[in-house]
Amino acid sequence: MRFSGFRVVKEALTGHKGWGMLWRNPDPKPAYDIVIVGGGGHGLATAFYLAKTFKQARVAVLEKGWLGSGNIGRNTTIIRSNYLLPGNEPFYEFSMKLWENLEQETNFNSMVSQRGIINLYHTDGQRDAYRRRGNAMLLAGADARLLGQDEVREIAPFLNFDNARFPIKGGLMQPRAGTARHDGVAWGYARGADMRGVDIIQNCEVTGFRIEGGKVQGVETSRGYIGAGKVGVAVAGNSSRVMAMAGMRLPIESHVLQAFVSEGLKPTIPGVITFGAGHFYVSQSDKGGLVFGGDIDGYNSYAQRGNLPVVEDVIEGGMALMPMIGRARLLRSWGGIMDMSMDGSPIIDRTEIDGLYFNGGWCYGGFKATPASGYAFAHLLATDRPHETAEAYRFDRFARGYVIDEKGVGAQPNLH
Ligand SMILES: Cc1cc2nc3c(=O)[nH]c(=O)nc-3n(C[C@H](O)[C@H](O)[C@H](O)COP(=O)(O)OP(=O)(O)OC[C@H]3O[C@@H](n4cnc5c(N)ncnc54)[C@H](O)[C@@H]3O)c2cc1C
Repeated sequence: MRFSGFRVVKEALTGHKGWGMLWRNPDPKPAYDIVIVGGGGHGLATAFYLAKTFKQARVAVLEKGWLGSGNIGRNTTIIRSNYLLPGNEPFYEFSMKLWENLEQETNFNSMVSQRGIINLYHTDGQRDAYRRRGNAMLLAGADARLLGQDEVREIAPFLNFDNARFPIKGGLMQPRAGTARHDGVAWGYARGADMRGVDIIQNCEVTGFRIEGGKVQGVETSRGYIGAGKVGVAVAGNSSRVMAMAGMRLPIESHVLQAFVSEGLKPTIPGVITFGAGHFYVSQSDKGGLVFGGDIDGYNSYAQRGNLPVVEDVIEGGMALMPMIGRARLLRSWGGIMDMSMDGSPIIDRTEIDGLYFNGGWCYGGFKATPASGYAFAHLLATDRPHETAEAYRFDRFARGYVIDEKGVGAQPNLH
């Protein structure tokens, strides 16, 4: 079933009787060539590229809940490639390029909207740091513009430019950045993978790995044993728990991150705006709600809900940046589990167990990485070689001291 304008018109005229299910609901087969654990954005994107680009025929995705029940359905939907370090920037720019063609590639409306992001700066030192970041982005083929105060004022006149503590002096803009409909991304990849023969099996929790002679043979699940030539784990906030079943201890801690949505308002915020002095970021959804968030809750947790001190902190950030937000009513908030790595950057690598591969450590920035992460993980699983943009995302970088520390805060997962 392909989507097109013609199809929409035809269905409208014939009572919408021709729409089928977006993906099948198959029972697990006894064995697959490749089993992906985790039906979030990264797991589904991996399966999609395995089937489409790397022509792998016997692939399954095992998801313990329903598709979209994890962070892919809980994030604030920001996509961007405004990174500084050489280990990161080419990877995230590769992801931006995949985003730009995603809807054509999956034939699904994931509402990719390139409305731009502005990272505000408040001091001369911060401006210089953003100038450097912008230059690094340009060198990697991304887009970047340093804005003065007047230019930011023109785009977002409602900001509090004269805040005594954090006056806004300008911002670093990436015009190609923006937002995408988070669960639409999961559904698009799921449908695209299913159409190419991938079995997507929901309500199927992986409860253990069968490992013999240092090689993975398959996975134990709540729906029985499933054999596998290779197993790729992409379970985000549950990374430590799942890999512990294979006897591995990861350089990852899990923390809660919350998101908030206001009642629907008329169009107010043109793109994404981040407050460079506090930890606050905001955009507006197509339904009109202001979508915003801030820092992680700051202690280890596997709960998919947040706590009040961070709610207060986020709202304070919002009030300092744009006092008019105080007039909007909060409609809902929720939490997700972040797989915070020690340097704030991800891992896409083989493990010491033959046939077992890992993808995780995305912290609170993994949504924007979904296409590139899926592509790079599929590349690794299919060819046993890292994709050229993901070569730095290795486990042994911590042992070698070759960390990718964007924020420069050291091995402090709660600070990244
Ligand atoms: C509030 C919030 C805001 C965010 N905002 C942004 C943002 O604006 N931009 C951005 O780039 N990133 C953002 N992120 C981060 C981003 O959402 C995550 O980094 C990314 O979604 C993680 O990858 P995923 O989609 O594969 O994870 P998930 O969707 O969590 O997928 C992992 C899946 O694994 C499944 N699973 C776990 N254990 C098992 C098991 N034993 N067996 C089978 N399945 C299992 C889970 O049920 C889950 O569905 C945000 C996250 C949150 C919570």
